Amino acid sequence: MRLRSTLLAALVTTTAVTAARLPPQSPPAQVPAESDANTGLRFSFVDVEGGAATLIVTPAGESVLIDSGFPGDRDAGRIADAARQMGATEINHYITTHWHTDHVGGIGPLSKLIPVRATYGHRIPDPLPDDINADLVAAWKAVSATPTFLAAGDSISLRGKRGTPTPKLRVLAANGLVEDEKDGAPPIIKCEKGHEAKPEDTSDNARSLVLHLNFGDFDLLAGGDLTWNIEHKLVCPRRRVPTVDVYLVSHHGADSSNNPALVEALDPEVAIVNNGPRKGGEPRTMAQLITQLRDVGVFQLHRNVRPGAVNAESGRIANLDEACTGQLIRMRVEPGGSRFVVSIPSRSVDRVFSAQ
Ligand SMILES: [Zn+2]
Repeated sequence: MRLRSTLLAALVTTTAVTAARLPPQSPPAQVPAESDANTGLRFSFVDVEGGAATLIVTPAGESVLIDSGFPGDRDAGRIADAARQMGATEINHYITTHWHTDHVGGIGPLSKLIPVRATYGHRIPDPLPDDINADLVAAWKAVSATPTFLAAGDSISLRGKRGTPTPKLRVLAANGLVEDEKDGAPPIIKCEKGHEAKPEDTSDNARSLVLHLNFGDFDLLAGGDLTWNIEHKLVCPRRRVPTVDVYLVSHHGADSSNNPALVEALDPEVAIVNNGPRKGGEPRTMAQLITQLRDVGVFQLHRNVRPGAVNAESGRIANLDEACTGQLIRMRVEPGGSRFVVSIPSRSVDRVFSAQ
């Protein structure tokens, strides 16, 4: 768990493109040798052009996929390619953060490309609301005869490997509830301190699974498309989130999510924005991330091409052009969990950070 973000990141890159903004006291750091490339906790943030698909392979060789992009062959193919590149021959755990098309859409075609074992999601609303596609939920149900429906406080058990920390994956919110809340709990809690509530979000975004992944000193938070008021419940009236090293930015970087109270509490060193060229990466959220993370830790899957967009420095953007080739962002946490490297292979960029 991190205490406070001090910029311990040191830049090692084969291009000069990101060689700026490092404080003079930063120690030099080395990108781990190629021989170490298949060890540690590894991530691929797959470009699904405005959806979400994050593939994780643990030191013990287990694979965890969080969301599967849009329906059709494109995203399923990209995820399957990423799995092959990471040496995964199956998806051991597939987690859908919520039931929207850009998160659950790819699981049907993906399951035809690579075996998918255990499946997880939040409770399926009954009756099904208009914002959930029944066919896509049916395709998800067809993958596993025994899916697991997660609630806040649940964990997914992952195998350990001798000599490295055992990854721990825990659910911090689900179904619009945080831990210890029961069905019927108010969706909006007013606090003396903090940020004003927004009108209630009745979409499935508000019911997103929020996942905390811990690996030694390393912590990551992935919140699906969780929106403002439930985000606030994670920090008010009491804090329910750790500080983290990496924040997989909620809702593709939309301003209806990313409540500043939560983003400040998380205090990430790195933010990964899984936006599309014309989706997410919205100005208030991007401006806060770039200010708070001092513009060295903000990585985007896409440059936002809309007029007036706020983007990270181009060396940390995997896809600059709207007509893209689906370039991904990779990350590897070293076996001890104390350092991690964020890479954009297509741009020959590697940046080393220290987990706190
Ligand atoms: Zn989404």
